[in-house]
Formats: sequence, structure tokens, C-alpha cells
Amino acid sequence: MKEQQIKQLSVVVPCFNEQDVIQMTHDRLVGALGSLADYGLEVVYVNDGSSDDTESMLFALAAAEPRVRVVSLARNFGHQPAVTAGLVHASGDVVAIIDADLQDPPEVIPEMLKLWRDGYEVVYGVRTRRKEGILKRAAYASFYRLYKLLANIDMPLDSGDFALLDRRVVDVLNGLPEKNRFLRGLRTWAGFRQTGYTYERAARAAGEPKYSFRALMRLAFDGIFNFSTTPLTLIFVAGAIISGLAAIAALVYLAARVWGFSVFGQSPEDVPGFTTLILTILFFSGVQLISVGILGEYLGRIYQETKMRPTYVIKELREKDTDDSASFD
Ligand code: UDP
Ligand code: MG
Repeated sequence: MKEQQIKQLSVVVPCFNEQDVIQMTHDRLVGALGSLADYGLEVVYVNDGSSDDTESMLFALAAAEPRVRVVSLARNFGHQPAVTAGLVHASGDVVAIIDADLQDPPEVIPEMLKLWRDGYEVVYGVRTRRKEGILKRAAYASFYRLYKLLANIDMPLDSGDFALLDRRVVDVLNGLPEKNRFLRGLRTWAGFRQTGYTYERAARAAGEPKYSFRALMRLAFDGIFNFSTTPLTLIFVAGAIISGLAAIAALVYLAARVWGFSVFGQSPEDVPGFTTLILTILFFSGVQLISVGILGEYLGRIYQETKMRPTYVIKELREKDTDDSASFD
């Protein structure tokens, strides 16, 4: 249990061409979090290669207030890399991740902090209602459900990157060497005590959405393929099923050839060489599909290894004669 003492709260805000909203966002953040009794505030803005005035506006904020930190990236790397950079540069005991467009209300962070004080290392936002178009909502809803089917982690439905992370979880995430990051998946993977906090997701306060359809698709693909080699296994399963069917078909054609009955109105005897040809094709397509499937299984394992995720994350270690808990990376 954590004692009531002053803790440092860092807020990571990725910003890509957010000049229309950034001042408003900063005021809302400081208004909601700047004078909490138990928390010191640090805001880490990450300028993700904006081409508008975002960078200079952020630099002005940093010049005016010591609690503002700006990490300016060399070009537009994307939302997930931007948040990753912010997490590395956040120094707080607890770190909130929030979009720059005020879709996630900063005012709920104090509520989430209470859950953190209660011992949850991860408090993730769960959206009750999205103020977005029906198509986009349907796309999100189906993605999260497909995700549940495919991925090997139990990621909570309808949770985005808006979350509060304990320092230990941030350290785990920062320590992961993998480059293509799907943070909400990694956050789930990290474990510890996690809980959701339900809130209503607003519409963008100002400016246009910065996620292009392509970027969203890429995010969805990262989400699926970073956490699942199920698609590769499916090739194997398909190969096995098709080979099985091919073996049956081969037997049927062989029998038709030997006993001279017809299949689909034709007898193999009508066309010289048909039986040899069809048996060869069926046999080798089966062999090929299974071979690809086996390669897929190896590829999947190589892929998992190259991500170099640790095999486990320790929450606590205990020994006799000490009630200290130690943590290891
Ligand atoms: N963002 C970013 N880099 C990008 C795209 C987006 O840092 O390449 C930031 C953006 O400034 C915002 C957050 O990521 O703070 C979410 O973007 P957006 O609101 O456009 O996404 P949506 O809410 O539509 O999912
Ligand atoms: Mg948004």
C-alpha cells in the first residue's frame, strides 16, 4: 500500500500538428492537475515532427514553466513512437498518457490516481461512448473483437492508450527492445494489477484527426501481428485440412480409374493421363501447403524471439526474514 505523500505525476502528450488545440489542452491539464494536493506535475509534450506552429508553441510553454518538458522528434514518426519517446522522458512515479486533442478528459485523471493509490499499477481508460462517425465506431468495435479472437493476450475491449501507469510498468515498457510498438497491447502484456476506468470519450476539441486511414490500418496490423502468430498457424491448419481432402479425392480418382466409375459425369478413362495428373497435383499441393505451414511455425517462433520480450516480469520477490520486496528487471 502506498503512503499518502507527495508523488510526481507525469503526463505524456503526443502532438502532431496540434497548434489549434495545444494551448487549450495545456490550460485544461494544468487546471485539472496543476494544483492537486498530493502530486507534483510534469507535462511531457512530444512534438511528433509537426509542420505547423506546434513546436514553437510547445517551446514557449517549456520556457515559461519549469514543469513542462518538450521532446521534439526529428520527423513525424507516428503516435506510438511519440508516446514511446514521452515514456522514456517522463520522470514521474506515475505516468498518464493522453492525446493532445482533449478527447480524453484530463479531469478524470485524479479519479484514476485514486485507483493507482489503491494499488493498481495500470489504470486504463475504457470508452463508453465515442463521439465519432458510425463507420469509424463500427470499424473500432469489429477490430477489438477480431483482436480478441486472434491475439494471445487478453486485452480489455474498447481501451485505447489513455491510461495511468505506475513507474514499474513504465520501466518495463521502456526496457522492451521491440521497435514496432502496440502500446495498449504491451501494457496488457506487462501485467501487474490492472483495472479499467470508464469514461465518455469526447469529440476532438479542435483541429482535424491526425490518424490517416492508412496509419490506423497499420496500427491494427501491428496490434494483431505483434501479438499473434495465429495467422501463420492458420496456414498450417488450412494445409492439413486441404491435404486431408486432397487425399480423399486422390483415393476417389484412383478407385474411379481402377473400377471405371465416373466422377462428376466423367470417367478417368475418357481422358488418358488424367488420373496420374490429378493424383500428382493433389499430392504435391498437399505437401506444399503443409511445408509452408511448417515454415510458418518456425518463422513465427523466430519472430517471437526477435522481439526479445522478456519471458516474464516479476511483481514481487519474498524471502524469509525480510518483508522487503525487491524488484528485478
Ligand atoms: N499523433 C501523433 N503523431 C501522429 C498522429 C497523431 O503524435 O502521427 C497524436 C495526435 O497529435 C493526438 C494523438 O496522437 O494527440 C491522437 O491522434 P488523433 O486524435 O488524430 O487520433 P484519433 O483520436 O482520431 O484516434
Ligand atoms: Mg483524437
